[in-house]
Amino acid sequence: MATVSFDRFYRYDELTDILTAWAAEYPSVFAFESIGKSFEDREIWLVTVTNTATGPASEKPAFWVEANIHASEVTGCTAALHLLHTLLTSDEPRVKRALDTRTFYVVPRLNPDGAELALADSPRIVRSSVRPYPREDEQDGLYREDVDGDGRMLSMRILDRNGTWKKHPDEPRLLIAREPDEDDRETQYYRLVPEGMIRNYDGVSIKMAPPLEGLDLNRNFPADWAPDSDQPGAGPFPVSEPEIRAEVEAIVARPNICGYISYHTMSGVHLRPHSGKPDDDFPVDDLRTYKWIGEQATKRTGYPAVSIYHDFRYHPKEFIKGGSDDWMYDVLGVYAWTTEFWSPIRAAGIEDFKFIDWFVDHPVSDDLALLAWADRELGGSGYVDWYPFEHAQLGPVELGGWDRLHCWTNPPLHLLEQEIAPHADFAIFHALISPKLELHSLTHDVLGEGKHFVRLVVENTGWLPTNVSERAKQRKACRPIEVSLVLPDGARVVGGEPKVELGQLAGRHMKRSMLGWRADDSTSDRAKAEWVIEAPNGGTLEIEAKHQRAGVVRTSVKL
Ligand SMILES: [Zn+2]
Repeated sequence: MATVSFDRFYRYDELTDILTAWAAEYPSVFAFESIGKSFEDREIWLVTVTNTATGPASEKPAFWVEANIHASEVTGCTAALHLLHTLLTSDEPRVKRALDTRTFYVVPRLNPDGAELALADSPRIVRSSVRPYPREDEQDGLYREDVDGDGRMLSMRILDRNGTWKKHPDEPRLLIAREPDEDDRETQYYRLVPEGMIRNYDGVSIKMAPPLEGLDLNRNFPADWAPDSDQPGAGPFPVSEPEIRAEVEAIVARPNICGYISYHTMSGVHLRPHSGKPDDDFPVDDLRTYKWIGEQATKRTGYPAVSIYHDFRYHPKEFIKGGSDDWMYDVLGVYAWTTEFWSPIRAAGIEDFKFIDWFVDHPVSDDLALLAWADRELGGSGYVDWYPFEHAQLGPVELGGWDRLHCWTNPPLHLLEQEIAPHADFAIFHALISPKLELHSLTHDVLGEGKHFVRLVVENTGWLPTNVSERAKQRKACRPIEVSLVLPDGARVVGGEPKVELGQLAGRHMKRSMLGWRADDSTSDRAKAEWVIEAPNGGTLEIEAKHQRAGVVRTSVKL
């Protein structure tokens, strides 16, 4: 087994080596291929995992995992590797069943260029793609940089009579906001800016420069897309970026996909669509199903499952557009999630917090709890006490504060594996609830005079219906079950049609309570096709029933 540990992050070449080793070691279940090239010409790897002895990947219902679309959110890649490792090494019967009956498609690092920058010896942090956008030249202003060359990017505090911040009376490392009516000549006030250098500094003004690499690849998907003026980073048009085009084309080319997760950091939460619409806009059954799957996600991982629109909005009047989970659900009609790994807030024992609003405002007691957590868990490397530095442009400043990349963007390495480990189980659960077309029964009666009655009954043994969601029906996102015959020489169909469509089959997903109004147990998960075949010479009749999402059933009858 290629040695992989989950207490570190892997650069692109190492990641490729791991995939290569696994493909060599597990040739019957593990394969990987390139789905396209990144902006800097790196291959974007797609891993396919299934037990090929029980059928090819394309003929089984599939679950898609995408990771590391955002450059520095490398925990997502680690979680994807951990899922692959679990699939390859687990002895659990349900994992074996998942490999026998389902397919996993995993893109461990959709954005290899951005991740490579984040993992460099002197890291540079971009939001996602490294392509300069929307301008190719740098604008004036402050750029984050490790100005004292100690490998960290902290904050700079600058003494300023009009500053916003002052020392906490009992914990001088912590800065707290000055009171609205406060102006005390004895108190030192500070201005707080990220560690960095200012392009074309005029000696007076400090402003943040817009990032040179201003794209956000998770705003570039073809769902509810809006231009840069509406939301920075969207790109010039939907699917304009090579990484997103590669993924969208690869997903559309695999109509067996029934579910999706995108791995990100941070917040410790599972997010679901819609981003731009309230829950009332869902088909009722889809919303209930989403919530039930979300309950399972929480049970297995400890992370709450919430709506982006209702619970994860960066601004009360702005909505995320062009995100992958919205595209997967709204256009393709498959249940799609964005998992944000890791929350230092929760790690510090703060349970009751709103994911985004907390960053705007929270009690100082939370800051103190976080500082105590960092001291305890990270021995001073998470929150750095302020130390003097002579800045080439600003003169004497102090460097210190949170080392965000080290303990906010991703978990500290010694906590990484325990954070990601439970999530493989949720991905496997999600794969196993997909629809699954299976043979129920095959009947063959000899009618005499060379005529044969043949009846095929198929059933959906999955929890979800063959169409997966009501949204998929509305979008006509998948075809009905199609049954076709291959007749032996000289045979002909004299009753029935050689090609039959059997519609969609129900799952068990809406049957939750014996007392439910809709808890009738009719056989809507079952369908039949019947023929009378005239075959004077005997031979073998081949029957194939296939559904794009639910899989393929093949059987035959000796006439
Ligand atoms: Zn992200």
